[in-house]
Amino acid sequence: MGNSPDIETDNRIRDVVIVGGGTAGWMAAAALAKHLAPMKIRIRLVESEAIATVGVGEATVPPIMDFIRQLGIAEDELVGAIRATFKLGIAYRDWTRPGDFYFHPFGPTSAGMGAVSFPAYWLKMFLAGKAARLEEYSVQAVAAAQNKFMRPVHAPNTPLNKITYALHFDASLFAAYLSRFAQARGVERIAGTVCAVLLRSEDGFIESMTLDNGQTLAADLFIDCSGFGARLIGEALDVGFDDWSRWLPCDRAMVAHSAPAANPAPYTLVIARPAGWQWRIPLQHRTGNGHVYCSGFMDDDSARDLLLESLDDTRVTEPMALRFTPGRRRKAWAKNCVALGLACGFLEPLEATSIHLIQRGIAMLLKFFPDRQFESADIERYNRMLEFEFARVRDFLLMHYAHTERKGAFWEHCRAIPLTDTLREKIDLFRSRGRILREDTELFPIQSWLSVMIGQNIVPRGYDPMTDSLDIAKVAEKLEAIRAQVKICTDGMPDHRDFIRQHCAAA
Ligand SMILES: Cc1cc2nc3c(=O)[nH]c(=O)nc-3n(C[C@H](O)[C@H](O)[C@H](O)COP(=O)(O)OP(=O)(O)OC[C@H]3O[C@@H](n4cnc5c(N)ncnc54)[C@H](O)[C@@H]3O)c2cc1C
Repeated sequence: MGNSPDIETDNRIRDVVIVGGGTAGWMAAAALAKHLAPMKIRIRLVESEAIATVGVGEATVPPIMDFIRQLGIAEDELVGAIRATFKLGIAYRDWTRPGDFYFHPFGPTSAGMGAVSFPAYWLKMFLAGKAARLEEYSVQAVAAAQNKFMRPVHAPNTPLNKITYALHFDASLFAAYLSRFAQARGVERIAGTVCAVLLRSEDGFIESMTLDNGQTLAADLFIDCSGFGARLIGEALDVGFDDWSRWLPCDRAMVAHSAPAANPAPYTLVIARPAGWQWRIPLQHRTGNGHVYCSGFMDDDSARDLLLESLDDTRVTEPMALRFTPGRRRKAWAKNCVALGLACGFLEPLEATSIHLIQRGIAMLLKFFPDRQFESADIERYNRMLEFEFARVRDFLLMHYAHTERKGAFWEHCRAIPLTDTLREKIDLFRSRGRILREDTELFPIQSWLSVMIGQNIVPRGYDPMTDSLDIAKVAEKLEAIRAQVKICTDGMPDHRDFIRQHCAAA
């Protein structure tokens, strides 16, 4: 027993300081306050009143619902308080080519037949011209097309069991909600701007930082949620940033709000533009609009004009311009500092993945929560896991750009971007016999890859030979039964607007 740890030695983290009061900072504060409560750790969050939050971030992906549930927050109450709406997926208009449309729904695919998965038998029939569009087999896609929404209910063997959704919300209201939640659980909020960071001479760990009001804060663990400025991980610890613009060319956004829709769509609308794309995100109290573009192919004035033209006279705010560099911090965790949110990296918002990457960072921080020894094996593993998550999201985004038939210099440039090895393998595998594997903890499930690949005309050369074990007539029957069931289920669903009014209208 000579090597066993001495449980009397108190190596525990006693003090955590979070820098930044945007979505990342308050998500971290809320989660740490909730999940570390028995450890009686002092948690302080510093937010600067002089430096604004990024002020965008309106769409999410389904795992956000787990984050909310794990905090014990009542979903209806939250949706009402932050004027959120529900999201069943993303509609892509004009993306593959002008006039084209496809939907990327959340949720699993329908059930397999024996050992053969739904994508495999649907693809076989689709290639033979004997299956309908993929959307028609998805309860999310059909409900979205009709502006309908409901949560899953216990209805065994029906698609109603598996309705999968995320939220659209105003990220500032979400952060404000989590701020109240965290402060009610003991998190101390400190107003101030970090103006100096002191490193320990012996190992370069952060010892303390000084605020513009003269206050000095020391802690064992620092969480950098200071946004694009990356005040701790970038400036103080000098951890470099990997620029991923060679894969993701967009680096600007023009954002404006317009009037709310009478019956808000339960999906994000994405419309391709000459040098990027535009989003429309309906909230209860407004519609969020943004034009994401590549500065190498469009100037800011043209981008602004293009956005405004599409808003008619319903604009309620002046367009705000944002600049960003796609990519990630080389190490998300360095010494005693973990970076979350924009300080850790940013991949453009086409598939609304940033808040999810914050959530993953927090979940892994809890999994690898350190003591004051800060074991390097834990830190290295954390960094590798986060790198994996970022890289898989990058591949998914890149696929959207790499396979289109759109004309124009920007889209031609996109088609010439060399694929990453991991994406090339994914596409090759699909192109051969329609196979898709979900690797490890990657965010996007098989349904997502299938929807986007088919939506963008990436078509397999042949079908999965395993499907020859099925009787074609039975497969046709099965497909028809799924489609009919999806139709019956969605016919009976309420309008999205009515669902919100009934369950979670703002107080
Ligand atoms: C155009 C665009 C669209 C986006 N759309 C989406 C989307 O649809 N879905 C999605 O998931 N994500 C989206 N994002 C990303 C999302 O906005 C961010 O991931 C999220 O808001 C987290 O931001 P943050 O908290 O890291 O940084 P910020 O919101 O920038 O907050 C930084 C905080 O740090 C504080 N701070 C900075 N420096 C100091 C200092 N020296 N001292 C003290 N405090 C300091 C600031 O005051 C602020 O409180 C989008 C981003 C952009 C640019």
